[in-house]
Amino acid sequence: MGAYILSLDQGTTSSRAILFDRQGNAVRSAQREFRQIYPRPGWVEHDPAEIWATQLEVAQEIVTDPNELAAIGISNQRETTVIWDRISGEPIHNAIVWQDRRTAAFCDELKAEGFDRTILRHTGLVTDAYFSGAKVAWLLNNVAGARERAEAGELAFGTIDSFLVWNLTGGALHITDVSNAARTMLFDIHRGEWSAPILERLNIPRAILPDLRPCSKVYGETKAALFGAGIPIAGMAGDQQAATFGQAAYQAGMTKNTYGTGCFMLMNTGDQPQSSANNLLTTVAWQVGAGPRQYALEGSIFMAGAAVQWLRDEMKLIASAAESEAVASGIESSDGVYLVPAFVGLGAPYWDQYARGAIVGLTRGSGRAQIVRATLEAIAYQTRDVVDAMSADSGLTLETLRVDGGAVVNDFLMQFQADILGVTVQRPAVTETTALGAAYLAGLATGFWNSQAEIAGQWQLEREFEPAMSEDQRQSLYAGWQRAVERARAWAAD
Ligand code: ADP
Repeated sequence: MGAYILSLDQGTTSSRAILFDRQGNAVRSAQREFRQIYPRPGWVEHDPAEIWATQLEVAQEIVTDPNELAAIGISNQRETTVIWDRISGEPIHNAIVWQDRRTAAFCDELKAEGFDRTILRHTGLVTDAYFSGAKVAWLLNNVAGARERAEAGELAFGTIDSFLVWNLTGGALHITDVSNAARTMLFDIHRGEWSAPILERLNIPRAILPDLRPCSKVYGETKAALFGAGIPIAGMAGDQQAATFGQAAYQAGMTKNTYGTGCFMLMNTGDQPQSSANNLLTTVAWQVGAGPRQYALEGSIFMAGAAVQWLRDEMKLIASAAESEAVASGIESSDGVYLVPAFVGLGAPYWDQYARGAIVGLTRGSGRAQIVRATLEAIAYQTRDVVDAMSADSGLTLETLRVDGGAVVNDFLMQFQADILGVTVQRPAVTETTALGAAYLAGLATGFWNSQAEIAGQWQLEREFEPAMSEDQRQSLYAGWQRAVERARAWAAD
């Protein structure tokens, strides 16, 4: 068996490939960006041909000998929707990206007729343009001839995982895994099958849907021509679920938070889906082989690291994201200044699309340092909002938080996070947990790794941040944040 697992990490702005060895170390990697296409305000598309080309290029760049490879695992940007021709493989339209809002009005219609309750019951999701279902309906309704061809069985729909597997296997496999299916708004997470009532309401013919698979299983082999030999494709999961798997968050109650552009927190809730009374999403975490489906609660925060980019690019208060740490650490506190980064509204748990950014609590002595520090603190406060919602929903108390993503290098942010949660924050040695999770899923299916227990044993702590703040101070700072959020809410409403 080869010495490495090839992990394909197809993200929103770039395609990456990483080779992992048996110890879970990244030994080689490559990354290529691709175009973001904005045909109209609020619309976001990708060219599927570019997604495939960049993904194949980075994979071929790091694979020098197919005998090195034991298997391939895939993680991907979730919800992004492609429809292609089953004979030619040609997409009928650009991919509609998860951020695209073109189907918002259709979602409002579904809500007005109360169909959002059916969607929530079957899929665990709020009815939103974010998910794939309405995007599929839009393509069938707006691309000439698409509906007839779909009904005749000529077209295939897939999220990016499906599209990559189709291309990797030369059209032999049209499949998706249950974690990606759970983000389509078409999948019944309780029964583990496509939801007939939702397909009917959205007028989506079953013939275009991929077959469902677990997240860890040998699905098939790549076309020999791609890497010089057929390589088993053996694992796939949506990026946030893959990151949770890569963090070895295998016990109910274990939670990871990814600090990137936004923050995505997932709490493992075991083999039972927990419905949320606090506006979190219920989603499939993963399914390993013939084992039971595992579920998670998810909180999505729109602005996290992106607010630091805003400090750098729009406000010019810092020269680099890294500088935020030194500036924030240079003062004892933000002196009562709060920044609410509701630039595009607020996600979980508020879901307030009319909230807007605000800086409150300014005094004559407030300056650059207070604003920079307040921005980093806001990332931690938003995370606290989601943690509180998760604890209320799950009845589980968070004991430690495992973190990953680009912003976790910021020690100030990590310490403040521990302080404001009153919970230990654990930063692992490998922060490429998305790609690692996909590798683990593929390695489990092929005997490269023997068990989740073995994988959990590989998880290595790089640094732990212990809460050092008094309970009084924690409560008083967080109460200030909650008042600041109130000032920012419903701002853009008439
Ligand atoms: P994504 O996968 O969403 O593109 P990454 O996980 O690559 O994001 O993280 C990039 C984000 O992390 C950027 O928004 C950037 O502003 C933020 N970031 C990077 N370094 C730091 C730092 N030292 N302090 C705070 N934020 C940082």
